[in-house]
Amino acid sequence: MRFLVSGAAGFIGSHLCDRLIADGHEVAGIDNLITGSRANLERLLGHPRFQFVEHDVTRPIGMDGHFDAVLHLASLASPRQYYEHPIETLESGSTGTRNMLEAGRRHNARFLLASTSECYGDPDVHPQVETYWGNVNPVGPRSCYDESKRYAEAITMAYHRVHGLRTTIARIFNTYGPRMALDDGRVVPAFIDHALKGKPLTVYGDGSQTRSFCYVQDLVDGLLCLTFSDERYPVNLGNPTEMTILEFARFICNAVNPGLPIEFEPLPQDDPKRRRPDIGKAKRVLGWEPKVPLEDGIRETISYFRSRR
Ligand code: UDP
Repeated sequence: MRFLVSGAAGFIGSHLCDRLIADGHEVAGIDNLITGSRANLERLLGHPRFQFVEHDVTRPIGMDGHFDAVLHLASLASPRQYYEHPIETLESGSTGTRNMLEAGRRHNARFLLASTSECYGDPDVHPQVETYWGNVNPVGPRSCYDESKRYAEAITMAYHRVHGLRTTIARIFNTYGPRMALDDGRVVPAFIDHALKGKPLTVYGDGSQTRSFCYVQDLVDGLLCLTFSDERYPVNLGNPTEMTILEFARFICNAVNPGLPIEFEPLPQDDPKRRRPDIGKAKRVLGWEPKVPLEDGIRETISYFRSRR
């Protein structure tokens, strides 16, 4: 099969392209390289079944040839990045999603939207289940990301309803692994980077907020199961093992540099207090659940960051 993947040079997109090529498919990857990097594609560039085009999804997608599936992952994804580029973030979720949906429609292809747990905002239902509509501040600093993904979900459903497109929507929870950018500000690279440098780990707030971390290979499995499913409504993909950020800081210290101090900094506005996916639907509909324990995934991630220093 032939796949069109936006965000191909990004953290999740590049792992997805690796998997598709390993499975024998053809892939055309596009990325504007605003946060993605060619280095993430170093194993694919030059491969006979892989093509890379530097392209911004907010411009119409005019790729040659037929596609069986269109996977839309292009987006800024880290809070630090979308605070810095709020307009680009809104554009890739809105115009970018529309352009990718049009590509899907032209080819009568399957379509996957990479959406997010941020659709639930600062949730008052826990764990988060797909039927929960969320608690998003529409004018706060995170709204550029949250609302663009909520719009992206809405227009994806509209293309399904109006054009009969075979759309799927993944609500992706916190994901980690090799190829995260060391400086993207998210908690996994930030803590590992500080620990490797022997700097104190900076916990925002009192560290009682929770997150649940999924290893990228597990996530890629889930995305592919979903792409080929007949489920049209959103499906949570994430690892339900929940921990506080303070527990996570201690975990990283123990793994890299025990005894390192932990410092506390102000909590960013609208930072979600609790986040854990209910993955009952993914288990039921896709037969999917994550397999990689945090200890193993973090070991791989640490060794990647060590090799990059
Ligand atoms: N966080 C932290 N220190 C950091 C980076 C993040 O304490 O250096 C916290 C952040 O406030 C949030 C959690 O870790 O509560 C996860 O943040 P991240 O930016 O990774 O993603 P989010 O889940 O908020 O989208």
